[in-house]
Amino acid sequence: MTEQDEETQQERPSHGPEADGVPPYVRKIVAREGDVPEIGEYVNRPAPALLVVLTGPSGVGKDVTLQRMKELGFKFHYVVTVTTREKRPGEEDGEHYFFVTRQEYERMKENGELLEHAEVYGNYYGIPRSQVVEPLRKGIDVIMKPDVQGAHTMRKKEPEAIYIFLAPPSMEDLAARLYHRKTEDPQELAKRLKVAREEMHAISDFDYVVVNRNNELDETVEEIEAIIEAEKCRVRPRRIRLAEDE
Ligand code: 5GP
Repeated sequence: MTEQDEETQQERPSHGPEADGVPPYVRKIVAREGDVPEIGEYVNRPAPALLVVLTGPSGVGKDVTLQRMKELGFKFHYVVTVTTREKRPGEEDGEHYFFVTRQEYERMKENGELLEHAEVYGNYYGIPRSQVVEPLRKGIDVIMKPDVQGAHTMRKKEPEAIYIFLAPPSMEDLAARLYHRKTEDPQELAKRLKVAREEMHAISDFDYVVVNRNNELDETVEEIEAIIEAEKCRVRPRRIRLAEDE
């Protein structure tokens, strides 16, 4: 028995429980060991808002994933992007997209109102800067779903965002989903699959990959939730400069 052990033994009260069940000798051990970092500095600080960029090939299920996250009450600002494409049945202006004319799109682009803009399958898309910056400044987490090239552009503009690649279980599954969606003609479907094949090679550029398995949407959402939870526990939080610059 060391000298310290002996001292500890002697300090141990011989009888009677202490107020909280912890005898004084235990407290003395803690006091003797010196300071530890104030944990509140890490866990109670106001966490900076996160910017999540969820991407993946056309048809992989980005929209349904975000829709499910909304239904489950995930507290995000879901970025609504502008597009020049025709509204599909069931789509709402301001909810699925802001449907704009080519002229309005060009005006926004010229004015620097679009954080990122791209031509995707013959239509024009853009992320309004205000859709990202304003909620971030209010401390609200933001999630967006650009195509893969859009995610690459975003990474150049905001390397500290969280980049998640949503992948199909296989190319066959992706083909089946695009086919059943019935929004593309056979030629368009072939084009999307060709692009998807190239996009799959970009997975290594991302922070996380989540496989969107058939009929397992809730598991997909749970994995995204786990990523967000882990990110909230970071010792050094990501610093989104987009929210600071302007
Ligand atoms: P859809 O027309 O089928 O809704 O979308 C076609 C593709 O455009 C999807 O892969 C979607 O992720 C992408 N997209 C939607 N909004 C934007 C955007 O603002 N920027 C970029 N780069 N892609 C977008």
